[in-house]
Amino acid sequence: MEAAEDCCVKVAVHIRPLIGDERLQGCEDCVTVIPGKPQVQIGTHSFTFDHVYGSTGSSSSAIFEECIAPLVDGLFQGYNATVLAYGQTGSGKTYTMGTGFKDGCQTGIIPQVMNALFGKIETLKHQTEFQLHVSFIEILKEEVRDLLDPASLCKSETTNGHTGKVTVPGKPPIQIRETSNGVITLAGSTELNVSTLKEMAACLEQGSLSRATGSTNMNNQSSRSHAIFTITLEQMRKHNPAFPGDSSLNEGMGEEYLCAKLHLVDLAGSERAKRTGSDGLRFKEGVHINRGLLALGNVISALGDEKKRKEGVHVPYRDSKLTRLLQDSLGGNSRTVMIACISPADINAEETLNTLKYANRAR
Ligand code: ADP
Ligand code: MG
Repeated sequence: MEAAEDCCVKVAVHIRPLIGDERLQGCEDCVTVIPGKPQVQIGTHSFTFDHVYGSTGSSSSAIFEECIAPLVDGLFQGYNATVLAYGQTGSGKTYTMGTGFKDGCQTGIIPQVMNALFGKIETLKHQTEFQLHVSFIEILKEEVRDLLDPASLCKSETTNGHTGKVTVPGKPPIQIRETSNGVITLAGSTELNVSTLKEMAACLEQGSLSRATGSTNMNNQSSRSHAIFTITLEQMRKHNPAFPGDSSLNEGMGEEYLCAKLHLVDLAGSERAKRTGSDGLRFKEGVHINRGLLALGNVISALGDEKKRKEGVHVPYRDSKLTRLLQDSLGGNSRTVMIACISPADINAEETLNTLKYANRAR
């Protein structure tokens, strides 16, 4: 096991293949991967990351094995972690995370995390008691929306088509709080206990569906919001009366009780807000989303800068709901993986370059 502080942010790039629409438009591939190196070239620009995944069919299992599996292992040692999918709308964030989960679909990070988690629990359950909780929320315009609220599926019908804002009488807004020992909690959101893979998969599916139907225009809604699927793992060491002093049990688990969480984040589209027509409201949404992405970029770059970290430079977690919510799982002893998703098509070259620059700042 590596030391917790070896590196707090890892950055990978995931390049999707050209998709049907791009092929129809006659787009060309403008992104080159240097063979054998985690290096990407676009035009005259060249960037090096921790990993680069091309458009081959095996990329999703490689991403999981190399970038995500260590975070799942870390959960069992009590380390919080965050996985972020960043990129313009259509670049493959939802595909990469698996947030558009449909029953039986196993590609994508979240379904693979769930499999690994339950596989590991199965091998450890004779010595440790486990409890798992799941929450699934969305941040849109600096407001937190509960995607697992049992009422949320019918709520969408009362959506005001103009602003997309849902008013639910009698339900207080969800609040992000910090306990005295620095643990961030979400007051008022649904946290479901799950004990089987099937139950957890059902939560992912329900929330994904709720996200997609939460607006009269599903593409707009899901591209403007951050979706955060959070798995909390609690473990309690079982005392084995047959072997009272057996220290070989619970290896790596230094304490009697451990609690850690993993945030899996499908970020809002990173494209610049466009001022379309006279719709001032839409522009405001764009401004808010940029607040989250901007704050995230600042937080991650502050964390990645060892010199700044040693000098105790202020990390601006409080600048957005997104970074506030992730505060106890970014930096410190937590591990963070950012996956920058890009399209290889020449028509997207400008946004692709922006994404690579943002991701480069995180290193
Ligand atoms: P985003 O969530 O960033 O807006 P999506 O995940 O919805 O983007 O992807 C856009 C389209 O590209 C979808 O039709 C998706 O199926 C396809 N796609 C994305 N990544 C891949 C990939 N690695 N391989 C094949 N198709 C992909
Ligand atoms: Mg998406």
